[in-house]
Amino acid sequence: MRIVLLGPPGAGKGSLAFVVHKRLGVPHVSTGQIFRHEIRRKSALGRRVGRYVSSGRLVPDSLVVQVMVAQLGKQRFAKGFMLDGFPRTKGQAAGLDRVLTRRRLPLDGAVYLTSPEPLLVRRLSGRRICVRCEANYHIRTMKPKRVGRCDNCAARLVTRKDDQPATIRQRLRLDHKNTKPLLAYYQRRGLLYEINGVGHIERAYARAVALFEGQGWIRPAGRA
Ligand code: AMP
Repeated sequence: MRIVLLGPPGAGKGSLAFVVHKRLGVPHVSTGQIFRHEIRRKSALGRRVGRYVSSGRLVPDSLVVQVMVAQLGKQRFAKGFMLDGFPRTKGQAAGLDRVLTRRRLPLDGAVYLTSPEPLLVRRLSGRRICVRCEANYHIRTMKPKRVGRCDNCAARLVTRKDDQPATIRQRLRLDHKNTKPLLAYYQRRGLLYEINGVGHIERAYARAVALFEGQGWIRPAGRA
């Protein structure tokens, strides 16, 4: 299946993409993860996007589309993908469409993960991520087995720079502004689907699988 996962920061896109990848084998790409990785490496791309990412502003469309086009050309995405955090604007959505149409790989759907704003703020302010593998934790609802250490790779857990309270508010405001035209874009094409992201990740996962199976994007579990 080929889908884009939409939703505000804190909606649980990253967590859902992680579980879908692990259990259903659908590879995922997160633009945010790529950018943070490049910033840590101090690469040319990292230097270009650093000031946008740390302040919660959007990286310019042309640059993001360029990075994504390069990613989607990789062999591991030939059979399908789940994009997390991209597209964020109508311009990016149009850029993605152009590339996928050229490659004759149309999108199956745009899945919008919803959550009320107070919950988004609680999730983001308590979020911790692994400095090495980027696994997500939460100080109350998704604690690691060992305090401050990642369950997968034992590396240190940190607060993302853009999860500071002032930056969270800025990101949510910006997201609100950009989301409406983006949702309208996919709605017009008959590609928009919604999943309620409230509750534990397992509940969001169950709702996602029901949607994927219902649409015929994946085979129902247990069938050959
Ligand atoms: P995320 O991990 O998805 O919350 O993204 C972290 C940050 O990376 C965002 O606040 C932006 O600065 C940047 N970013 C990620 N994806 C995009 C995108 N599709 N367009 C523009 N900026 C992005």
